[in-house]
Amino acid sequence: NMHGEELINDYAMFKDKTHKEGLRDKLIERLRLIEYDEEFVVKYQPKISNIHHDFVGVEALIRWNDDQLGFIPPNQFIPVAEKTGEIHPITIWLIEHVCKQIKEWQVAGFNVGKVAINLSNRTLTEDTFVVDVENIINRYQVDPSLLEFEITESSIIDDEKIALMTVKSLRELGATIALDDFGTGFSSLTYLRKLPIDKMKIDKSFLDGIVEDSLAQQFLADVINLGSTLSLGVVVEGVENEEELNIIGQTSADEIQGFYFGKPMSSDELISWDTSYNEKILN
Ligand code: C2E
Ligand code: MG
Ligand code: MG
Ligand code: MG
Repeated sequence: NMHGEELINDYAMFKDKTHKEGLRDKLIERLRLIEYDEEFVVKYQPKISNIHHDFVGVEALIRWNDDQLGFIPPNQFIPVAEKTGEIHPITIWLIEHVCKQIKEWQVAGFNVGKVAINLSNRTLTEDTFVVDVENIINRYQVDPSLLEFEITESSIIDDEKIALMTVKSLRELGATIALDDFGTGFSSLTYLRKLPIDKMKIDKSFLDGIVEDSLAQQFLADVINLGSTLSLGVVVEGVENEEELNIIGQTSADEIQGFYFGKPMSSDELISWDTSYNEKILN
């Protein structure tokens, strides 16, 4: 009967909630206790130019393998770290890790182009953030134009003034700013026109079912044109197969990222990926 079902649903929801809250508490505790160097690693996913399919950059993506909880995906712990404020030291750790890596790659003569780093709202409103970034850049002597920061619409809307000031300062340092997950936010298009950004990354959801759907193809092309009209570099993310690649090849997109070219990889994996990718491209 109806009432019984409701009770069962309520109970399932309750169990789910307490389970989630339990995990959340554990995540909060572990994030406070762990040594970042021991539990976090950074993976790098290649970005490819749309015209000649050159390897032009990477996105740095954090991975957490906890001693007690096992592997926790970023979608699960980043929001928690944002709430507790732990996202600030994590982001600083990540930027430092990336700068060290850039230096190592340069010494090895390995050119990866720009390295993109995701920033959340909490980071953009942290008042020491820009100074912290400057200090790291100076310490490792990294050319700031090699750094790209990915922000989202929601991360600037929450605390508009301060977040925008941070974004402008990062740009003044010489870094590139990309708007991530474009098309999933809530901001108006007129607002987009005023943002101090250089690139936009079209969210993967624009590719859903696109291969059989000519309307979706036209829609994607139009959204990409919108970016071009605004003089923004356009990145399409989440490209998984050749059919999608061919559709994007007919648009004015600048860069492509997705499993079709490469998954997020360790530095060693990226170096061998690059070797075989170059062989493939030359043939
Ligand atoms: P994002 O910044 O939009 O990153 C792209 C996500 O899509 C990554 O998931 C990547 O592995 C995945 N992806 C890339 N190509 C494909 C594809 O072809 N198909 C599919 N299905 N997925 C693809 P990941 O690494 O799990 O990260 C998820 C989100 O977590 C990121 O979304 C970003 O918002 C956040 N994140 C990851 N690393 C960091 C970090 O270091 N700092 C911050 N603040 N957020 C991070
Ligand atoms: Mg991103
Ligand atoms: Mg994205
Ligand atoms: Mg994202």
